[in-house]
Amino acid sequence: MSVLAAAGAGRLYAVRAVFTCLWRGKYFSSGNEPAENNPVTPMLRHLTYKIKSTGPITVAEYMKEVLTNPAKGYYVNRDMLGEKGDFITSPEISQIFGELLGIWFISEWIATGKNAAFQLVELGPGRGTLLGDILRVFSQLASVLKNCDISIHLVEVSQKLSEIQALTLTEEKVLLEQNAGSPVYMKGVTKSGIPISWYRDLQDVPKEYSFYLAHEFFDVLPVHKFQKTPHGWREVLIDIDPQVSDKLRFVLAPCATPAEAFIQCDETRDHVEVCPDAGVIIQELSQRISVTGGAALIADYGHDGTKTDTFRGFCGHRLHDVLIAPGTADLTADVDFSYLRRMSQGKVASLGPIKQQTFLRNMGIDVRLKVLLDKSDEPSLRQQLLQGYDMLMNPTKMGERFNFFALIPHQRLHGRNHQMNACQSKPSPSPVAGFGELAWR
Ligand code: SAH
Repeated sequence: MSVLAAAGAGRLYAVRAVFTCLWRGKYFSSGNEPAENNPVTPMLRHLTYKIKSTGPITVAEYMKEVLTNPAKGYYVNRDMLGEKGDFITSPEISQIFGELLGIWFISEWIATGKNAAFQLVELGPGRGTLLGDILRVFSQLASVLKNCDISIHLVEVSQKLSEIQALTLTEEKVLLEQNAGSPVYMKGVTKSGIPISWYRDLQDVPKEYSFYLAHEFFDVLPVHKFQKTPHGWREVLIDIDPQVSDKLRFVLAPCATPAEAFIQCDETRDHVEVCPDAGVIIQELSQRISVTGGAALIADYGHDGTKTDTFRGFCGHRLHDVLIAPGTADLTADVDFSYLRRMSQGKVASLGPIKQQTFLRNMGIDVRLKVLLDKSDEPSLRQQLLQGYDMLMNPTKMGERFNFFALIPHQRLHGRNHQMNACQSKPSPSPVAGFGELAWR
């Protein structure tokens, strides 16, 4: 039996609604909404007060405040995912997505010598749906993973979402950590008995052999925006509109700002977005992987250093003006994978970005879909599986907008972890699944 048939053979189906909503993947520019559509939210009040006292703020500061301000941030106190929320993501659409990612981690664990233990670290786990599907595969393939000591580490800033993750992933009540000195703010055990801990910052996750996962995480990190002008690069700032009270507008900084240092000297675009926080996280991941091994799998919408203005908002599955009613809508910008690659500073090898459609096909999505369809005779379930497949794979839907990108140790590509084949003078590493065809059967 192939691994794609074995995974999930015990409990095949995870219930997903049939979604007709918008995924976060289109462009929108701000500034055209009439003022009467601009309710004065607590966040808008907070920001106008801040701008009045210290002057216009950068787009990065705006995004950070609006999304993750500990008291009023969009991500902090709500569940924005799914049909009743503001946007939908691949794991919420189809169980197959998480199952194939689960197989990717096991395949890399095997290819790198079956370490006695590994940490699975997820950045921004949303509702915990993706991890739930991955862990179901780990359970189904327990005979492969036997004797491997696995632990789960979640990096999440949202109190509300961390509670939902705990409900999804654990059976018992999760303990809120009382120890003020500990970076772990919640702790429990998953339904399959794996220890799970919650952190606010990647820096606090133990520096052990780990597999890292970030799905639709990098796109919510704050970006600085710059416009090329006859006087050189000028940063885009956010100010109060002098004509309309309680309305924000974009302005250009009158002179150079410090974040300009992030723009490449040979940049040819006339508008760029840079995300220093993404750079810091990639440097941390690269450093960890180069020292302890493991791998990072990053999936998001984005480009390879070619796009310009991608900053946009989503509310109730509709595009939303980013400056209107801040705190009530999601804000996002496409991930610049060329920047992530640069920030790895050669410490690790990078693969991709490749299109979601290609990655999932290489991982065997067609075989997996067939296995699930063959085992289901319920029409609504079959329809859900087929619709989910179409959303994930169709080039006009998520198939081409979303990309996969991986960081792996250099030696993974040169086969140092592999047993020598008696007939070969050099070890031959197996291809990295997803970026080449899944070799493991
Ligand atoms: N990966 C999930 C959710 C994506 S939404 C999915 O694909 O369904 C973005 C997630 O990142 C949310 O869980 C949000 O609370 C979290 N998040 C946003 N900014 C963060 C930050 N600075 N640090 C950690 N988590 C963050």
